[in-house]
Amino acid sequence: MKTEIVKITPEDGVDKYKYAVELLQDEQVVGIPTETVYGLGGNAFSPLAVSRIFEAKGRPTDNPLIVHISEFSEIYDLVTDVPEGARKLADAFWPGPLTIILPKSRKVPYCTTGNLETVAVRCPSHPVARNLIKACGFPVAAPSANLSGKPSPTKAEHVFEDLNGRINLIIDGGDCDEGVESTVITLASETPKLLRPGNVTLSQLKSVLGDILVDDAVLNPLKEGEKVSSPGMKYKHYSPDAEIILVRGGYGNFKNYVNGFKDNKVYAMVFDGEGEGLSVPFIQYGAEDYKMLSHSLFDSLRELDKKGADKCFVRYPDDCNDDNLAVLNRLLRAAGFKVIDV
Ligand code: AMP
Ligand code: MG
Repeated sequence: MKTEIVKITPEDGVDKYKYAVELLQDEQVVGIPTETVYGLGGNAFSPLAVSRIFEAKGRPTDNPLIVHISEFSEIYDLVTDVPEGARKLADAFWPGPLTIILPKSRKVPYCTTGNLETVAVRCPSHPVARNLIKACGFPVAAPSANLSGKPSPTKAEHVFEDLNGRINLIIDGGDCDEGVESTVITLASETPKLLRPGNVTLSQLKSVLGDILVDDAVLNPLKEGEKVSSPGMKYKHYSPDAEIILVRGGYGNFKNYVNGFKDNKVYAMVFDGEGEGLSVPFIQYGAEDYKMLSHSLFDSLRELDKKGADKCFVRYPDDCNDDNLAVLNRLLRAAGFKVIDV
């Protein structure tokens, strides 16, 4: 299969979307830009399209997909009931990087939800994604468009690196603004619970809903036999081929520690403005600010593999608070929770 890349800008008219819409109506899958990361889209109501998503990504079939809609009213086809909390969240953060989990309607097939009774719904703000969904006339299920386990794609070329020859089409809508996947909150439990942090932050969610629980799996490895609220948390995720090790401490101690490694395949990932005195090659992955770090995190992890790194020591974004959980969550998973204090 030849994988085509077509550039579409928000100014382009509906004719530009024709091929993508035809493929999606034909139950095929398409790489699509969103403001968080690139998605691998297919008709959320079609078990065949959904099975093609899982196959192209190599994703375990119990890891449910997020269903994308182009406007709020389309949620009624997907869920049994829209509680007040969902309406408030949508008013505050849709279109945008927030996924809301609610009990699913009968129309949503179990293959889309990984056999769960709930469905994850999001209205993305990327104009190309919304125009495409609108033109299709059905909701689009889309997990991140990477091979399962790899860092999520934030550029069309990342999707091509992973899925060339596995899908017909990638829509290039430019680099993703956010750079990390959406915040996932469930309203299907008694108290709302944050399942995955993203750039709609915990403090923003609390300002709308009040009390919110944070799933243990956000910052901790799963314990043996523990039941997961979000199946995605079970799997190794966001990992480049290089071994990632987080190093917590000041820059001076980081530098002394890393300089003890003489192997030329050892790399460092540091904050912008750092790197002086390091004797290993390094990548700067943004200012120590959660928005900046999230924007280039996955691109930096992919860069390590392009450079042939075996191991990379990463500066730990220290100040863990309700606003920067997203970056820490992705880094901890990329590192398989390996953290060294220096
Ligand atoms: P991805 O689309 O690759 O960003 O992954 C979607 C994430 O949303 C995964 O971590 C899933 O576990 C989570 N998710 C999707 N649907 C549900 C659901 N119904 N209940 C809990 N988590 C979900
Ligand atoms: Mg993913």
